[in-house]
Amino acid sequence: MNKNIFIFDQNKCIGCHACVIACINENGFQSPEQWRNVHKSQENHFPDSPLFYLSIACNHCDNAPCMKNCPTLAYSRDEKTGAIVHHPEKCIGCKYCTWACPYDAPKYNPKSGIVEKCTFCNHKIEEELKPACANLCPVGALDFSNTVFTIEESKASSPVPVEVGSNIKINKLRNKSGPEIDLDIFKNQQYDKKENLKHEKISAKEEWPLVIFTLLSAILVSLYASQRTELFRIANKFIYLGLGVISALLSMLHLGKKFRVWRSVLNQKNSWLSKEILSFALFFVGVLIDFFLIDISNVIIIFFGVILLISIDMLYSLATWRWPIKMHSAQTLFIGITFYAALTSSYLILAFILAFRLTIYFYKSINSLKIIHTLRIILPIASFGLLLNQQFILPLALLLIGEIIDRIEFYNELNVPDPKKEFQG
Ligand code: SF4
Ligand code: SF4
Ligand code: SF4
Repeated sequence: MNKNIFIFDQNKCIGCHACVIACINENGFQSPEQWRNVHKSQENHFPDSPLFYLSIACNHCDNAPCMKNCPTLAYSRDEKTGAIVHHPEKCIGCKYCTWACPYDAPKYNPKSGIVEKCTFCNHKIEEELKPACANLCPVGALDFSNTVFTIEESKASSPVPVEVGSNIKINKLRNKSGPEIDLDIFKNQQYDKKENLKHEKISAKEEWPLVIFTLLSAILVSLYASQRTELFRIANKFIYLGLGVISALLSMLHLGKKFRVWRSVLNQKNSWLSKEILSFALFFVGVLIDFFLIDISNVIIIFFGVILLISIDMLYSLATWRWPIKMHSAQTLFIGITFYAALTSSYLILAFILAFRLTIYFYKSINSLKIIHTLRIILPIASFGLLLNQQFILPLALLLIGEIIDRIEFYNELNVPDPKKEFQG
């Protein structure tokens, strides 16, 4: 079956940026980032090193992860043209689609508080015209076609190693060996790569409200679940609820359109972010009713709490594509179980979960053991020893410090595919 695709020929592109200008002329000024980008194979322009280009925008993927993961259903597919259309009036600016898209196509605009992206020039395709970028390319490097394009061709053409049915056919360089390359120049490029890696889309510094929100969620769920055993009592219910409110406010802090937050629960079918927000609301309202109104089954409330922690962990799974094992010692479900075991003096469970988590932690840090890693490993072990000696406050504090270190590392280790970095190798 025919479909609309971009065709890009690396052998022809001269990096003139006419496609970018055409897009701006057609769709208006794009700030702070253009919808279409032209990436260079190397930043340094060394005369003896090959220089070629990749022009890329949204690829209007068949299995579009942006559309699947958007919690507010702000994306839809135009069945006639195949365009993945973003609806600005539905967007809350949570930026989750910028993590989900492997091609860096949705761009967050801090001024409008929402994301924007290439429209496929849908209005032009409907009139059987080419998109502006493909139409203006002076050397025919970027083109557009209505043709048969199989999933295998799509995978082979994709600028990043993912399989999402991207609709761009890339004619790669014919001279695969390329010009002679000076190895010293490549050493310099390694330096550039390290610099580039500093600019990951997700980091603990940028997402600090989420670091606190996710950590607090795990602790709040474990505190509530521990109450059920009669071995532990929440001393002050108002402080507990206050922490819940802080947690909810922090989770909203990074939204560009805070008053549209109600939309975030709309995509229960596909979006873990939607599930996270709904389960947090159900858990918190359940706790509120249980504390002050009627005695409802706390099994149901704990169930919502567990769903909340699973949803938090799952929603980050799309940013773990480089991890050798798709599991992290700082997953919120593990944090919740750890605190539950510590609070209820369930030493067997605690020993097991700590050993399991430390094994994962040790495995991922073995090649770069630093003082902070050693501290992370020592803190829970010391905490366990103190708990066995009938101490309570100090071991919990040590456990918490360890969890903070681990959760910060978790955010710093998250990464999403980046066509520019992949292109530059
Ligand atoms: S298809 Fe249209 S909106 Fe998309 S990059 Fe090209 S000119 Fe811009
Ligand atoms: S390129 Fe990105 S934004 Fe475009 S459809 Fe694919 S996943 Fe969505
Ligand atoms: S609501 Fe979030 S995921 Fe959906 S389009 Fe807006 S920023 Fe992207």
